[in-house]
Amino acid sequence: MAIDAWRRATILGESREELIQALLRREVPPLISWIVRGGCAVQCEHCIFPFEGPKGHSDRISTEIMLSLLAQLSGRGNLVHEGRQLLPWQIPVLAAAKRAGHGVSVINNGQYATPSMLALCDHHGLKVDALDVSIDGPEAVHNLQRNHANAWRWAMNGLAEGRRIADKLTSLFTLTALNSEHVAETGKIAGDLVDEWHLTTMSVRPGIEHMLPTRSQLSAALDQLAGLRLGIPVYLRSYSLQGFVALCEVIGKEAVRKALREAQVIDMTPSNGIVLNVEGINLYFYPKSLQCNETLVVDADGWWRLPFSVAHTLDELQCGQSTEGDDLSHFSIAPVSEKLDVAEVYARSTVGWWQAVGRKSFNEERVAVERLLA
Ligand code: SF4
Repeated sequence: MAIDAWRRATILGESREELIQALLRREVPPLISWIVRGGCAVQCEHCIFPFEGPKGHSDRISTEIMLSLLAQLSGRGNLVHEGRQLLPWQIPVLAAAKRAGHGVSVINNGQYATPSMLALCDHHGLKVDALDVSIDGPEAVHNLQRNHANAWRWAMNGLAEGRRIADKLTSLFTLTALNSEHVAETGKIAGDLVDEWHLTTMSVRPGIEHMLPTRSQLSAALDQLAGLRLGIPVYLRSYSLQGFVALCEVIGKEAVRKALREAQVIDMTPSNGIVLNVEGINLYFYPKSLQCNETLVVDADGWWRLPFSVAHTLDELQCGQSTEGDDLSHFSIAPVSEKLDVAEVYARSTVGWWQAVGRKSFNEERVAVERLLA
């Protein structure tokens, strides 16, 4: 696996860059991230999606095409509806994917749970494997971070109705400067409502740097986490090198050095990260250099894109340039069609992306891990 080659290269100092590239080209993602163009009713401070405003129209992807894409993924083929809105026409597609034996899960801010949507889920017999509704703090903090007075009410309603449409409920807490003092309080709320609690460091984009927790805020957050006994699995994750390094610095060199040397490849889908056991906390890190083998993004507007690129709008990717003028041509994007060969487009897009982004990220990760081990 590319992640094991990455672990050997960065932690054990072996020369593996060519092997990582070769493995990456072969490792077809096990997931489809299904996203919907357009705005979200809440405006979370930490959101990774750009705000696009209300959606004009949607060229719907058909159930047949979605099933044909899922059948081409590695493993069971998983479909994750990543928001921002769950639309009525998508319910039968999710239900068909589940009936066909694929893993199906939904990430939602809770607004899905209207009487008409719940009736539609019942009508199609939809029971997804997992539903995630984020809670970013107790009520006032959650609403503040999510910039909406109704955000808490929607989340609580979404969780209360969640077992009607999902076998498992999970909740994600994005750690920021706003909520770092409320880790324990939020964990206890989540512990009473869901089956798994996930915490993640935020991914920084221009304009939200003020949301990054300081070193002392991170330290206080980890102390609260270490003292929690919730009785459900708790996962601490970082998808950014900056967040991972910040956590490691707070944890302390000696503990991190030992944990890095003993780090394991994550034993769950998608398997493109490592897990460190540091003082009783499992810390999961997903290197950006490998993110292309995680997921195939499918826009509800009938376009696929590789690799994970939801920080950019479909319009930007279609132009190959961001609104700030940055070159985005290393992302691959095209309309979904019945003839799409996922393995072929994935391998081809991985080559260009590695040259533009992957190699640079890998070198940054190697240097950062070297420093943590020094
Ligand atoms: S609910 Fe999700 S998609 Fe909507 S603004 Fe918040 S993080 Fe972004």
